[in-house]
Amino acid sequence: MDTARVAAEFQELYGAAPDGVWAAPGRVNLIGEHTDYNDGFALPLALPHRAVAAVSRRTDGVVRVHSADIPQGVYQLGVDDLVPHSENPAADNGGWAAYPVGVVWALRAAGHPVTGADIHLRSTVPTGAGLSSSAALEVVTAVALNDLYQLGLSPTELAVVAQRAENDFAGVPCGVMDQTASACCVEGHALHLDARDMAQRQVPFDLAAHGLQLLVVDTRVKHELGDGAYAERRTGCETAAAALGVPALRDVRYEELPAALERLAAAGQSETIRNYTRHVVTEDHRVEQVIALLDADDVRAVGPLLNEGHASLRDDFEVSCAELDLVVETATAAGALGARMTGGGFGGSAIVLVEVDAADAVAKSVTEAFAAAGYTAPRVFPAIASRGAHRVA
Ligand code: ADP
Ligand code: MG
Repeated sequence: MDTARVAAEFQELYGAAPDGVWAAPGRVNLIGEHTDYNDGFALPLALPHRAVAAVSRRTDGVVRVHSADIPQGVYQLGVDDLVPHSENPAADNGGWAAYPVGVVWALRAAGHPVTGADIHLRSTVPTGAGLSSSAALEVVTAVALNDLYQLGLSPTELAVVAQRAENDFAGVPCGVMDQTASACCVEGHALHLDARDMAQRQVPFDLAAHGLQLLVVDTRVKHELGDGAYAERRTGCETAAAALGVPALRDVRYEELPAALERLAAAGQSETIRNYTRHVVTEDHRVEQVIALLDADDVRAVGPLLNEGHASLRDDFEVSCAELDLVVETATAAGALGARMTGGGFGGSAIVLVEVDAADAVAKSVTEAFAAAGYTAPRVFPAIASRGAHRVA
């Protein structure tokens, strides 16, 4: 995206050049889904798609935000008037504006002297597609304010601030993976994240060197039941952990899974709760397996693990949907090495691991299957492991 354009738009809007311009990407998660809020593992990579924000600091306590992608004017409010959703669920936090404004609130709540900002942004991350357009908005705001106010926070600390903005200010109970991916990813790498202590390792992820490609298939559907179902899954996982006497499901070792499932049954926990447990424990294990394969340069062998992950999300965690299942079935039947839904589920995107030579044919099969099913045409593009948030001007 042309960053000079975003700066020029800022100047037009606010009447002065911005202090700087920053970018923060969306992400796909290779493996490790619905594990972050169980203190577990994930393996996301940043996309080339990103939010770009031109930002200036202000000293008068005023925050103004504007998005070129939304047909709304400038949203303005005072830093002392920010009320998080967690304190007042009825508070109007500006809809989309709650994401960037929430970062101002979260920084101030953590004691940082942020005295206002003018923000204009524009994003190429598809919204509501499970590619973390919301995290890109938060993280781009966080890195900008971190620089402008010389707060000295690390990318990991900024990710935690951004998550707090989304959880407490916007009232969306997401885990920490999305913001960490947007803030901390490195070009050509996937990010091994331990959501318990935020420990990270950059895992080399150079598919082109292996003649491979990772396709993103955005189904362009977002089923409404997603929000309530997400909260229900989180509660279910907490119930399972409490019944097993562990802080989080991450503490159930893969080898202990059969015994843990028996204990849950003996304690009268439902089949649903046991299935959630099986998903989380096997998914954490799949992250470790995928990382071992990447470290051994055995990238093609990752394919079957993606398929297993999808089956687990579909059958045990019950967060897939007909469109995502169709992507996975069609792509694998057309010769893909593996495929799975990515992100929270109930719509959004799937990822497909393919030989470069087969990418077009696989994409065509999926597109034709969608047309035959009467679905909206999906968007298909390659996921190129890109860099995390940074200053661009
Ligand atoms: P995802 O993060 O998977 O894209 P979410 O529902 O978490 O989906 O976030 C999407 C929301 O983020 C949008 O509904 C909108 O409120 C906000 N958003 C994302 N990108 C933009 C943008 N470029 N301009 C304004 N708001 C945006
Ligand atoms: Mg989001």
